[in-house]
Amino acid sequence: MRMELPTIQNWSCHNCAGCCRQHLIEISEQERKELDRQKWGESGEIPGGKPVYVWHSGPVWKKRYRLAHQPDGACIFLNEKGLCRIHAKFGEGGKPLACRVYPYALHPAHSGVTVSLRFSCPSVIANAGRAVVRQRSALESIRRQTVPERTGAWPDPLISPGSRTSWNTLDHLVDSLDQELTDETSPFPVRLARTVVWSSLIRGSDFSSAKPGEVRQFLALLRETTHAEVPTFPRDLEPISSVSRLYFRTAIAQYARKDTVADLSGGWRNRYRLFKAIWAFTKGQGMTPVLQPGFREVPFECLEPPFRPPGLFLEELFTRYFRVKLRGLHFFGPAYQGWAFTEGWQSLVLIFPVVCWLARWLAVSEDRDTVTSSDLERAMAIADHHHGYSAALGTASARRRIRHFVQTGDLQRLLFYYVR
Ligand code: SF4
Repeated sequence: MRMELPTIQNWSCHNCAGCCRQHLIEISEQERKELDRQKWGESGEIPGGKPVYVWHSGPVWKKRYRLAHQPDGACIFLNEKGLCRIHAKFGEGGKPLACRVYPYALHPAHSGVTVSLRFSCPSVIANAGRAVVRQRSALESIRRQTVPERTGAWPDPLISPGSRTSWNTLDHLVDSLDQELTDETSPFPVRLARTVVWSSLIRGSDFSSAKPGEVRQFLALLRETTHAEVPTFPRDLEPISSVSRLYFRTAIAQYARKDTVADLSGGWRNRYRLFKAIWAFTKGQGMTPVLQPGFREVPFECLEPPFRPPGLFLEELFTRYFRVKLRGLHFFGPAYQGWAFTEGWQSLVLIFPVVCWLARWLAVSEDRDTVTSSDLERAMAIADHHHGYSAALGTASARRRIRHFVQTGDLQRLLFYYVR
């Protein structure tokens, strides 16, 4: 089976154990039996002698299990040194599949798969470790365990709601977006704003009878249009409407929340805290509620003045982020709750101002009025943790929000506003 790997990304695990403290690991029936065979109950190594998995969903006749967690939300198998007990005793192969796949994400493409990475992992953000293209055999093994073998192509991808196109045409669209993202003659927010115009124009297009040459010609024309629409970084920014600001704050609240097992199982107290936080973000006045460690309560208005993020760093990080997500098709279809290519891309673009806003919040939380590269990295890890994985970001109201941003032109304004 064909497998496309990202050529610009490195990654190796640096044992930070961040993923083992954040994620809920669902296990298959086979993995549950494997854990039984590993006899953790008799080993005396598990803190408090607790069970290593718990029933977390499904009816009694079809129970679904997940790994148990320690009171702080860390996986039950994480030891005091931040290492995995299963890995130490039985090696990589003894761990549940979800632990071995992270931070990779595999998505259907043609008759094979394409590989992307989750930037919630700090080593992915830092581009640290071995080139992913040199890890093909390990990834082949993951692919064999996660994607069933097939002979024909996957169903044609959804290009815009209700309209599909061929995989070959999709390749042209991806190349065209990639060309825009790597156009170093323009600042990154300008490139991204052009992709928003591009995606709106693609949305109404029908490629069903177009020949490859015609698609290429059309895309070249589209490029000229997007450059004419967004020639450069605007000198004077039109104000962002109050409705868009409200929508934007709701997006921030969804991206900034913490949802470890400890947070989710906090009962009504936690639910009330979250409700209060969302209400505070809706109002956008007074103090920001603390949604996770690293953020402090600060006045909302402190996050609006210019913050001067580190330009070169921002360009490198975001260009790589968007290119890995683009080539890995990590923003639409099965990777984004069934959304179409165009709306999935627009939703991915929104993550740029969200990350910039969160980075400002981290800076103000440390009494600074400039954003550092470390603020941007931390903010990206927080936001990307949810992108494509949080149900709240795939709802009908999240769709309406994106449509509103695009139709009003406020998505482009947001791209410029928080990097000025
Ligand atoms: S089983 Fe091991 S690798 Fe998986 S989450 Fe738990 S500690 Fe981490």
